[in-house]
Formats: sequence, structure tokens, C-alpha cells
Amino acid sequence: MSVEKASKNAPCPGCGAQHSPDEIESHLKTCPSCGYHYRMEPIERIKYLTDPGSFTEFSANLSSLNPIDLAGYEEKLSEAELKARMKDAVITGACTIEGKPLILGLMSFQFMGGSMGSVVGEKVSRAMLKGAEEKLPVLIYTTSGGARMQEGIFSLMQMAKTSSAAAELDKAGVPFFIVLCDPTTGGVTASFAMLADITIAEPGALIGFAGPRVIEGTIRQTLPEGFQRAEFQLEKGFVDIIAKRQDQRKLISNLIDLHRSK
Ligand SMILES: [Zn+2]
Repeated sequence: MSVEKASKNAPCPGCGAQHSPDEIESHLKTCPSCGYHYRMEPIERIKYLTDPGSFTEFSANLSSLNPIDLAGYEEKLSEAELKARMKDAVITGACTIEGKPLILGLMSFQFMGGSMGSVVGEKVSRAMLKGAEEKLPVLIYTTSGGARMQEGIFSLMQMAKTSSAAAELDKAGVPFFIVLCDPTTGGVTASFAMLADITIAEPGALIGFAGPRVIEGTIRQTLPEGFQRAEFQLEKGFVDIIAKRQDQRKLISNLIDLHRSK
């Protein structure tokens, strides 16, 4: 089962029921029958999650260079920008949820598979450092295929950079929340996505490092049912809470209250 984009009256990948795209949209892009969660882009999440008009974007004009002079990378970036209508695979900013201020980061899978290059690493790190400096909780929604191979070693360096920024949040005593969305894999899983104080996941999200086929091929064993899905990761202790989209705003608001220092 993979999470597909809602298309015209296509059967739900979770239960096979047919709903119109409008019906699915009005349920925050989940199936009205079984609750299957379709993938969602940052702009759509800002709408259901934050207080209207409260989101102010940081570093909006930061865009990738071609650090290893890879042929065709600039063209790929331009195509991704048109497709996702974003400058790179993450949006960060300040906002309020039920009147409570926080720093929010949201990744886009439409932008080159949510891959983490220099811009994603820089924006995520800046957002976390701002949270540490201003003592504001940090919440990041992740979705990623992993490191951006088009940036070679520079993409791998983002793992260390974002991890050390997460350590600053810890030092400052600022709460850090992650929501793992479908799919969160590779270098993002292996860095800041696993460093939060509370790790939330959306139902059915694929969460792992390498994909199931690669693992199956390496260990030459059949993997258990539901391997790497959010529910499996909850059972194994990688995930603390699975939260439906409809419940996330309230949950985040409650978590901010619980982690207030006074
Ligand atoms: Zn369904």
C-alpha cells in the first residue's frame, strides 16, 4: 500500500471506496470511509494547522547552487520549482497554533522527492537555532526520499548540521516536535527527524532508512507485514504517537502547554 495523491474518483488505496476529490479535500485529504491519509503539501498544511494569517516565512529566497557542477541539476531545480511552487523542498517560518507561538518547518515531497540538499539543511538548521534563541517550540513535518545526491558530499553534511542544531534546542531547553509524514526515509530519518523530544507520525506513513526491497535483498528474509509503517514503528518504539490530521492541531497545542517551563 502506498500513499497516492487524490485523483478524480480513483478508488481509495486503503479501502477501495470511491470519493470525489472535493470530498477528500474537505476531509483534509483523508478518505472519508477509512481515514487513509493522502500526501499533502506544505501550503495545504499551513491552512489546517496554523491560526489564519499567522504564518510568516523565513529565508523565502534561499535557493540551491550547483556545488559539484553536476550537469542538468539547474534544470531539475527549475522544473521542481515550477511543480511544487517552492524554491526548495522545505518552508520554514513563525506562526501560532491556538494562539501559541512556535517555529514551523514543512517539507515537500513534490520538490525532488523532499531530498535534503544545502538549502533544506540550512533552512531547517536556521529554524531550529531561531527556536533556541527565542525560546520558542519547534515543530517540523518531514517527508523525504533522503539526501540530495545531486549535491554529493554537501548533502551528507546537512545531516551533521541539522543534528547539531537540534542539540542546541536541547541545550536551550526548548521542546522539539517532529511529525513524520509519508514517506520519511534516508538521510532525513538518519538525522534531525529522529532527534525530537516527541516523535509523532501520520497513520500509514512509511518511516525507515533504506526501502523494504533493499533490506529484503540484503538480509534475504521476508519482512513482516506492515514493515516500516507508522503503526509498526510505534510498536517498536521509534514513534511516540500516531495522530490523524484532524487531531494534529489540538495535539500540538496540548504538547506546547505540557512542555511550557512555567
Ligand atoms: Zn478509504
